[in-house]
Amino acid sequence: MLPYGKQQIDQDEIEAITRVLRSDWLTTGPAVDRFEEDLATATGSTHAVAACNGTAALHMAMQALEIGPGDEVIVPAITFVATANAVLYQGGCPVFADVAADTLLIDPEDVEKKITIRTRAIVAVDYAGQPCDYRRLREIANRHGLALVADACHSLGGQYAGKKVGSLADLNCFSFHPVKPITTGEGGAVTTCSADYAGRMRKFRNHGLDSDFRQRAVSGRHAYAMLDLGFNYRLTDIQAAIGSCQLQKLERFTQQRQWLADCYAQHLSRSDLGFLPLARAEDRDSAWHLFVVRCQSAQKICRDGAYEHLRRSKIGCNVHYQPVYQHPFYSETLGYPQDTCPVANAAYQEILTLPLFPAMTEADVAFVCDALQRFPRNEQGKSQAA
Ligand SMILES: *Cc1c(COP(=O)(O)O)cnc(C)c1O
Repeated sequence: MLPYGKQQIDQDEIEAITRVLRSDWLTTGPAVDRFEEDLATATGSTHAVAACNGTAALHMAMQALEIGPGDEVIVPAITFVATANAVLYQGGCPVFADVAADTLLIDPEDVEKKITIRTRAIVAVDYAGQPCDYRRLREIANRHGLALVADACHSLGGQYAGKKVGSLADLNCFSFHPVKPITTGEGGAVTTCSADYAGRMRKFRNHGLDSDFRQRAVSGRHAYAMLDLGFNYRLTDIQAAIGSCQLQKLERFTQQRQWLADCYAQHLSRSDLGFLPLARAEDRDSAWHLFVVRCQSAQKICRDGAYEHLRRSKIGCNVHYQPVYQHPFYSETLGYPQDTCPVANAAYQEILTLPLFPAMTEADVAFVCDALQRFPRNEQGKSQAA
């Protein structure tokens, strides 16, 4: 089975974790500091705060902004559930904005419509790796006095108007899950140019304590004070060492993804198969986390039929994502309305994620596109209508 995403691990990661395992520090050690410095440098940001996963990173960002009961945070309808859940963890209320039909990125016009006196922040999700329209989002955030957060879990390695992902919003959240642009197994981080936010997040990821284990070892003091209610959201040195190796390859990974995406685009445009890639905005470089196509219902392409056809051909395609408010916890338990984001609802019926990861070859792309060409569209279209 050709998976939709896959990590690339080489000898240098294996050697790096071996060095950590032989050292004194398996967690809260120097490998974490180094990874944070490497990530800040790679993203053109000032501070990076590592976390045990991307969801914890999002939660840390919400806590840094002091989101709490009564506060609304605008998030896109199409994203992984963790983006909205992080708002709920803080007792805040996620408000869903619709996405643009061609890119599936949060629609700045709909963001403005969803702003109320309770709105505190906007979370932009760089869906599939393509950065959102940060110029317009920043202008809206400034005009309404809101914080701008990037859920950049898809987009490490991308750029917007010459600026790197990680330096585009007030707080920029990353995930290092194996399918993401770089991996640490599980892992995450937030980058920010605010020393204040960074300090709050370091405290929050360590139980709300004023110092960590190594700081106390260095200072020779046993006492610590718990200042706030925090969590244990720490990344280990073993994971951080993998992360520093992976960051050195980020540019190569991104170029490889870009090249494979171009191969897909060429194959799909040569033969008008009815599988339409997402639009690319001109002023930005996608990190190409996902290659998403829309199965055009106008051409009688049924997404679920195409999904099953590809799986039968040993191609591990996927669907990213069902609108968050359609999940039973949001629709039934929390009672979210289902009709507030019509573009997202329509897109969900048509989207399909094709395999894309750095170790793929052009032959793999051709194999996927050949399978799409063999998809019996008319029958599927009829059976869908029936
Ligand atoms: C992967 C992902 C997350 C969560 O990251 P984890 O490391 O799996 O916790 C959050 N948001 C988006 C958009 C993601 O793709």
